[in-house]
Amino acid sequence: MNINDSEKMGGILVKKGYIPTDKEEEADIFIINTCSVREKAKEKLFSYLGRLKKFKQKKGVKIIVAGCVSQLEKDNIKKRAPYVDILIGTNSYFKLKDVMDKRDYSDFQFYRDWKEIDSQPVRRQNFSAYITIMEGCDSFCTYCVVPFSRGRERSRPMSYILKEVEKLEKEGYKEIQLLGQNVDAYVDPETGGRLDKLLEKIAVNSKIPWVRFLTSHPAKFSIDIVKIMKDYRSILRAIHIPFQAGGDKVLKLMNRGYTRGEYLKLMDSIKKIIPDIALSTDIIVGFPGETNKDFEKTVEILKYVEYENIFSFKYSPRPGTKAFNYDDNIPDKEKTERLIMIQELQKNIQLKNNRKKIGKIFKILTEVKNRRDESQLVGRIESGRIVNVKGADKIGEFYDVLIEGVGPHNLKGKVVNKKGG
Ligand code: SAH
Ligand code: SF4
Repeated sequence: MNINDSEKMGGILVKKGYIPTDKEEEADIFIINTCSVREKAKEKLFSYLGRLKKFKQKKGVKIIVAGCVSQLEKDNIKKRAPYVDILIGTNSYFKLKDVMDKRDYSDFQFYRDWKEIDSQPVRRQNFSAYITIMEGCDSFCTYCVVPFSRGRERSRPMSYILKEVEKLEKEGYKEIQLLGQNVDAYVDPETGGRLDKLLEKIAVNSKIPWVRFLTSHPAKFSIDIVKIMKDYRSILRAIHIPFQAGGDKVLKLMNRGYTRGEYLKLMDSIKKIIPDIALSTDIIVGFPGETNKDFEKTVEILKYVEYENIFSFKYSPRPGTKAFNYDDNIPDKEKTERLIMIQELQKNIQLKNNRKKIGKIFKILTEVKNRRDESQLVGRIESGRIVNVKGADKIGEFYDVLIEGVGPHNLKGKVVNKKGG
């Protein structure tokens, strides 16, 4: 979502005549878009602001801080980096169209009409596009700062989303990724239609070959979505559905709204409809009160579900959240050990499952050049797994690729058919 917000800010600035650059020395303006989901992300902002101070002193560059840290830590930023010119919150980036020549300006409004963002251009890569379908979160998991940084849930009208999809199709986009903190909370304000309806409409009305969406919430997930995936091949068979912790005690302390049993039952019913579906998840280790026995429950879920991919984090207390008042009693060393353990386990699961792909042909969409070998491109298969591929010459194209080798995190292969069947 942050990448998408940066693309929206980029679109506004390019329309105003600004030129993007990768070189810090060339820039007259720096916009730092920020994440506050963990402490480390926040600290990165302050160390980068420290680096930018020299550009401020030498050239008088303009510095803008946008996003979640800006929204939540305005006073702290003003105190620690008084040379920041503009502070823009998570929902007021579109104001950049009017305030670029201001100094000492801030705006943290939470709510605005969807029309306001729809009238602005987005600076995207030209084959895969993020599309916001809802923003905010009402779940209030006790560890999470998102409900505070992004406000209450609000869904974008389906008619606006479909119009954007149509435009992207005309422009030749190959993939779209529907975004929301909790896409299962999506409700069309005009018709009451949910995510399954939206996916069906996109599948029926548009020729965009690949449609993804994230993030799904286990307590609100509707199995109708999996049925849509089965019926329409453009809705990719991949679901990012975080469980966070494996034991009921910790799930309750986290206020996740489901039990271990309910989560596993849901995974079973999804796999019953599409056995080879790619499931991925987020996990937090070392939540306050998580004993070794509780952690074992997390390990068991990983072994049982065999995810295509996981994102795992050490618990990081966030000011303002309920869990901030809990005793952060798991030592960092212990958190690190738990993290390493699940990452090692997952590595072996991925390696085992990737090996089954050797000798088979997969359709990939190419995304970038391979940094280690410029003659190769890097793409993704439907599950989201990365492939280093020989014989592909164009970024943003589909190819059929024969898988010849694998590691835990990626596959290697060669093109057998340029079109991608
Ligand atoms: N809406 C999504 C995820 C939003 S944040 C969901 O509910 O799944 C992305 C991930 O960051 C979360 O899934 C969680 O695993 C992690 N996360 C959020 N707050 C955290 C915290 N305080 N400490 C560590 N990880 C956290
Ligand atoms: Fe955060 Fe929970 Fe909302 Fe996800 S569902 S954004 S983890 S509060």
